[in-house]
Amino acid sequence: MARFSGWILAVLIIATMAAGGAGGSDRIPVAASIAPLADFARQVGGDRVAVLVLVPPGASPHTYEPKPSQVRQVARARLLVLNGVGLEYWADKLVRAAASPHLRVVDTSRGVALLEGDSHGEHGHPRGNPHIWLDPRQAILQVGHIRDALLRADPPNATAYRANAARFVSELEALDREIAAEIATWRRREFIAFHPAWVYFARRYGLVQAAVIERSPGREPSPAELARIVDTARRIGARAIFAELQFSPKAAEAIARESGARVLFLDPLGASLQDGGYLALMRSNLVQMAQALR
Ligand code: ZN
Repeated sequence: MARFSGWILAVLIIATMAAGGAGGSDRIPVAASIAPLADFARQVGGDRVAVLVLVPPGASPHTYEPKPSQVRQVARARLLVLNGVGLEYWADKLVRAAASPHLRVVDTSRGVALLEGDSHGEHGHPRGNPHIWLDPRQAILQVGHIRDALLRADPPNATAYRANAARFVSELEALDREIAAEIATWRRREFIAFHPAWVYFARRYGLVQAAVIERSPGREPSPAELARIVDTARRIGARAIFAELQFSPKAAEAIARESGARVLFLDPLGASLQDGGYLALMRSNLVQMAQALR
């Protein structure tokens, strides 16, 4: 039996080498705007894709500017995977600069029931709130768009893309059940977030965003706004104020001091994770939220 498995493995390795698969230079080059979408592309594409993430760890898509070297990388890519809903307000300019006839832009927000956005800030999102990937059920739709784009870009590997997508979708469904079961045990529903990143998550799992510190990231709250958030924190008996790794925690610290709460960090983008994996990212956010809401 062992010898038989070894023989199968040898054949697979030769077949893979012949196809130029694992480690080959003919992987489909894919650019993705943010780390969670890059993870979706890797999950579906497996070793048939080479995925580049544009917004670096620790940065925010709300304040990002593509570098010239990234324009050249996007020009070599076959797919540019975007979240959509205006999150990548810089994408049109990037695509024009890349000027590649081979590049297909994949808007993964198609079919998502959008929640209202914020159009007050410089980089407001007049088309709706863009943070759809933070609801695993919407993430499943996004994975479907990435699968379909890979099927069109690389039909010979359709079977692999379909199988990988089906496996990952079942992992996302399991994650969704896990989060719902955990949140069902929490005594508190209302939370204060750094910016309106968790509204789809809240809609899905019956939580309530009671206040946000920055309506539009990068726009600091006025003293009057801070005072209102402190009032809200006291009213809901907040045990924690959520800051985010991509932004300064100063305002969250001030609100926490005034309202007797502490500061915890949420990460909508995966800056805190070595592998950037979405499933691990969501589980680590759930652990943070549980400390405040359980
Ligand atoms: Zn955001």
